[in-house]
Amino acid sequence: MKQKKYLLPESEIPTHYFNIQAVMPNKPLPFLNPATKQPLTPEDFYPVFVEECARQELNQTDEWIPIPEPVREQYAFYRCTPLVRAYELEQALGTPAHIYFKNESVSPAGSHKLNSALAQAYYAKKEGITNITTETGAGQWGGALSYAAKKFGLDCAVYMVKVSYNQKPYRRSIMQTFGAAITASPSMSTRAGKDILTRNPNDQGSLGCAISEAMELALTTPNCKYTLGSVLNHVCMHQTVIGLEAEKQMAMTGEYPDIVIGCFGGGSNFSGIAFPFLRHNIKDGKKTRFIAAEPASCPKLTRGKFEYDFADEAGMTPLLPMFTLGHTFKPATIHAGGLRYHGAGVILSQLMKDGYVEAIDLEQTETFKAGILFAQTEGIIPAPESCHAIAATIREALKCKESGEQKTILFNLSGHGFVDMSAYDQYISGELQDYKLTDAELAKYIQSADVLNQ
Ligand SMILES: *Cc1c(COP(=O)(O)O)cnc(C)c1O
Repeated sequence: MKQKKYLLPESEIPTHYFNIQAVMPNKPLPFLNPATKQPLTPEDFYPVFVEECARQELNQTDEWIPIPEPVREQYAFYRCTPLVRAYELEQALGTPAHIYFKNESVSPAGSHKLNSALAQAYYAKKEGITNITTETGAGQWGGALSYAAKKFGLDCAVYMVKVSYNQKPYRRSIMQTFGAAITASPSMSTRAGKDILTRNPNDQGSLGCAISEAMELALTTPNCKYTLGSVLNHVCMHQTVIGLEAEKQMAMTGEYPDIVIGCFGGGSNFSGIAFPFLRHNIKDGKKTRFIAAEPASCPKLTRGKFEYDFADEAGMTPLLPMFTLGHTFKPATIHAGGLRYHGAGVILSQLMKDGYVEAIDLEQTETFKAGILFAQTEGIIPAPESCHAIAATIREALKCKESGEQKTILFNLSGHGFVDMSAYDQYISGELQDYKLTDAELAKYIQSADVLNQ
């Protein structure tokens, strides 16, 4: 056998999300109101967020949260996703390690993001919401949310950073195909957008501005809520369906992972594959290593600082206790768009601080080289983000080759790269360069968070 898939029937789709907050030895610190520095309650989030999501966000007591049946029914369109033993990749590396990957690229949106989009759209519908909105940079979250909204009969409005709107037309077409209304941001449809365009009619937009526009729409439109596709605790919790399935599938192989790896943007796919296994480290004394793979151009876990910071560039959100590079951080324009975020999820940050999780940062040429080897051996072109997980896996597999140890490595393939081929083009033609941030550059950005903690 050159490759082996471990499949679970639809009936094995998880019935509950795993809420790691309930079992964490040190609970995450509270979110703070930036003006009063007082801890926030779920009610504080209700004007902007779906209420059930706000409650899940701060739930530190219930270990298992039931997955609503209509959400499980939608999961059945692509779940359970396959767990695959990557024999040909192992062979190409000449490693004694056993490499497994969980394939989340098979979802209708092409990535893991749909796992949370479907839950968020369902909870919104159930609360009588008619419209949901969000911002999108690279377009993956926007695509997942557009599809989920359509499935649950909601109208979806996506503010897409203008430069991406023009440069990534296919992601825009995907969202439009699923029926969403896409607005290039800044736009004249909000006060935030108008203010910027009045000052500079050629402004190309930023994620910060798109967030402001989406939040303004949610606050000024009846029955409209704002949604996020990463970072927040409830989003990471929805993604635990990945690891819960993988746990059963690993049992079918007769092995248990020594190492679990995921790429790291805001933390949702990494949390999804890692937390269900991590609970056995916390509760049963297992010694699995968990490695978050982030880009060297945006190294919040390896070189950032644990402190309170805003979750957005504009400083409109509450203060979150997390590893951050400073909310004014401007990453180099690399192509792994989904990993270009200045902070890490609150839960993950606490676990990292407590030593349960490790992180490495990788240069992008190494990640594309890894992605191409994976495509040629396993037959799936990975998303540039997922290439970071593959590169980290290859590093560990080569260490096994050196030491002769036969470790079991599991990584999450968060998505496919079919809509990212221009990034592959650039790599193949030798146009992509590595970019190492200097300590001086980092120190400048981190100050924007430091001042909030004085
Ligand atoms: C958005 C995205 C990521 C990064 O986000 P996380 O929340 O860190 O998972 C990774 N891979 C793919 C394919 C994505 O679309």
